[in-house]
Amino acid sequence: MSTIPFNDLSRTPPELLSEIEDAVGSVVRSGWFVMGPQHAALEQELAAYLGVSSAVLVGNGTDALELALCAVGVKAGDLVLTTANSGAYTSVASRLLSARPVFADVAADTLLMTAETFERALVSLPKTPAAVVVTHLYGMLANVAEIAALARQHGIAVVEDCAQALGSRRGGRLAGSFGDVATTSFYPTKNLGALGDGGAVLTSRPEVADRVRQLRQYGWSGKYTIERAHGKNSRMDELQAAIVRVKMSHLDRWNERRRAIHTAYEEARPTGLRFVTSVSPAYNGHLAVVQASDAAAREVARDTLRSAGIATDVHYPVPDHLQPLKELHEFDVSLPVTERAAQTIFSLPLFPELSDEEVAHVSAALGSL
Ligand SMILES: *Cc1c(COP(=O)(O)O)cnc(C)c1O
Repeated sequence: MSTIPFNDLSRTPPELLSEIEDAVGSVVRSGWFVMGPQHAALEQELAAYLGVSSAVLVGNGTDALELALCAVGVKAGDLVLTTANSGAYTSVASRLLSARPVFADVAADTLLMTAETFERALVSLPKTPAAVVVTHLYGMLANVAEIAALARQHGIAVVEDCAQALGSRRGGRLAGSFGDVATTSFYPTKNLGALGDGGAVLTSRPEVADRVRQLRQYGWSGKYTIERAHGKNSRMDELQAAIVRVKMSHLDRWNERRRAIHTAYEEARPTGLRFVTSVSPAYNGHLAVVQASDAAAREVARDTLRSAGIATDVHYPVPDHLQPLKELHEFDVSLPVTERAAQTIFSLPLFPELSDEEVAHVSAALGSL
């Protein structure tokens, strides 16, 4: 068995490739490349899929966070509360608005923010945050409804980061439909990826959608008329919109395939490793994450898998509050669960195009750990 990559974006199935080629050809022939009919159609289809009233396409998932935070009123000097184990995208986006990222720890079992970790962070902060960003990490839907109920009592806006969790649902409601506003990314490795960059802001609050529409295009209220501060150019082009539309029709099926692969890994019952992710409708199979008992045990497990030709990765090795860039963490904080996770977790190969033979090989290697 040759090496099993952590991900392989070159494995486009032939039927999908020809669908994409047709879509690209029709955009090229149309002569309309930015904010045209493909863009408008994808906005409609995304909003309908999530069950929200508006989707606003933007350049990427980090811009989506920045513009969503701006649209709910986050200003320079405001605090933005989030988790420090989710790749620092929210911290970077907050700094673009000169807001100050602050952190809640996560639950030891799911590594997600909970109502309890949210409340504990809240009492330790020098002032009430203007917004909380709940990241549905690894594709697992956090309990946003409970966090939002508390946030509302304090006048804190709730942003859901769904970049990893498109299609995750609970009680018939999808990730992205619980908060004031949600964001996503179409980076190629996400469950719904473009062939380049893209992102979206999703909301059922019309005034928030209107503000993001202005912010993504220079702050324009109309052509060449600038009314809104913090505008920039952050648009998603017609080619990427057309490609994402094609791929979106396969999203639920791909997520199902991802869940089936995860189930096979769980059934291997690796000794000494615990699954952080687990299969349910609330998990779209974005990443398969396991946790070892300590840092040394993680290295042994990863080395054993590497010897069996299996690539693994760590999401994420450096928590936000320990990043070298000091402005990402102005206030000192200790986050024991987050810090321990960064030392002990790793991710297994999980993408829909893995063959059954490859899945069996990874499962066998896990079973022998
Ligand atoms: C990928 C990702 C982002 C950023 O998206 P980009 O399109 O790469 O800017 C933000 N948040 C989460 C949770 C992500 O996984």
